[in-house]
Amino acid sequence: MPENEVDETDCCGNGCTNCILDNKPKPSQQALLAGKRNVILSYAKFKMLSNEMHNGDAQLRLLHFVYVASDDEENDGILDIPPGHHVMLRAELAGHAAPLLRPYSPYWTDFVAKEFKILVKLQPGGRMSDYLATLEPLQVLNFRGPIGNYVHDSSSPKSIYIIAQGVAIAPTLPLVAQVLDKEDDMSCIRHLICVKDLDHVYFRGRLLEFAQYWNYRSCLYLAHQKCSCGAVNCDELCVHLKKKLHYNETARRLRLDAMQLAGQTISSDQSGSIVIIAGTSIFQRAMREQAIIAFNLSNKNIYLL
Ligand SMILES: Cc1cc2nc3c(=O)[nH]c(=O)nc-3n(C[C@H](O)[C@H](O)[C@H](O)COP(=O)(O)OP(=O)(O)OC[C@H]3O[C@@H](n4cnc5c(N)ncnc54)[C@H](O)[C@@H]3O)c2cc1C
Repeated sequence: MPENEVDETDCCGNGCTNCILDNKPKPSQQALLAGKRNVILSYAKFKMLSNEMHNGDAQLRLLHFVYVASDDEENDGILDIPPGHHVMLRAELAGHAAPLLRPYSPYWTDFVAKEFKILVKLQPGGRMSDYLATLEPLQVLNFRGPIGNYVHDSSSPKSIYIIAQGVAIAPTLPLVAQVLDKEDDMSCIRHLICVKDLDHVYFRGRLLEFAQYWNYRSCLYLAHQKCSCGAVNCDELCVHLKKKLHYNETARRLRLDAMQLAGQTISSDQSGSIVIIAGTSIFQRAMREQAIIAFNLSNKNIYLL
């Protein structure tokens, strides 16, 4: 089979919004420009370099991988996983006839060194989670990708609303970075992060770095943030919450909805607006509805990762 072909056995069966069967891994623009082979187009071996805890939570793991070339392979490849795309992990587990497939979204990649990192939230009782929890550095895993359909065009400035839920903030970081890293990209970003409380805001340091750019603003929506003031009707902008925030950080003690979204409007002309939503499929669908109400956008301007 050609290296980017897919068949039914390549689907993980979890009903992903961007299923591999509809978004087969294809040579990226960057790989074509570099005249190189994207090493991950068909299943390729990656060695785990580290498996570290994140945010003091043992269930949250930062996994770092590097490509392992075969002995007879020329060193002419690159690793291209464009922002907004995910990869499929295939694991052969003892006692299971069929391999186990699960998608993961890198939050960092190195094109030349052929390395990438993912943030994994281990699910108690989850089959892949149990396997990943016991992984030791230097173990080799099989990944394939990139899978997805979002492409950013830096030549046409846009208002970009990026909505992320919990750990799904990870794949939104490269989406932000690709805009901010390009000085002549005039797109403006609103990064709207939905989590339980401040303790569950991941990559907070990175968000503060982004906040130094003129075209980036974020807001944390903390649906279950407890407040020390004790007032029953303590509002979403409570002064006690403000004290816990860093300079340039904004937060609200409530859920993101159409009204809150409308309050984040970048430009009254919404013709150049897009919304990108990362999270569970239930969250993605709910937020898409809210975005349609808030910005009067059509589905084609809304991307679900
Ligand atoms: C595009 C995409 C990108 C993703 N990226 C990431 C990422 O970067 N990081 C990340 O952490 N996750 C990511 N995910 C989720 C990831 O693919 C897995 O779904 C997740 O790791 C759980 O897999 P698992 O095999 O451990 O759990 P599963 O075995 O699939 O189980 C998931 C949960 O359901 C429960 N469960 C399982 N079977 C049953 C049952 N019969 N009855 C009741 N409950 C049951 C389990 O206890 C567990 O809590 C992504 C998903 C998609 C679609």
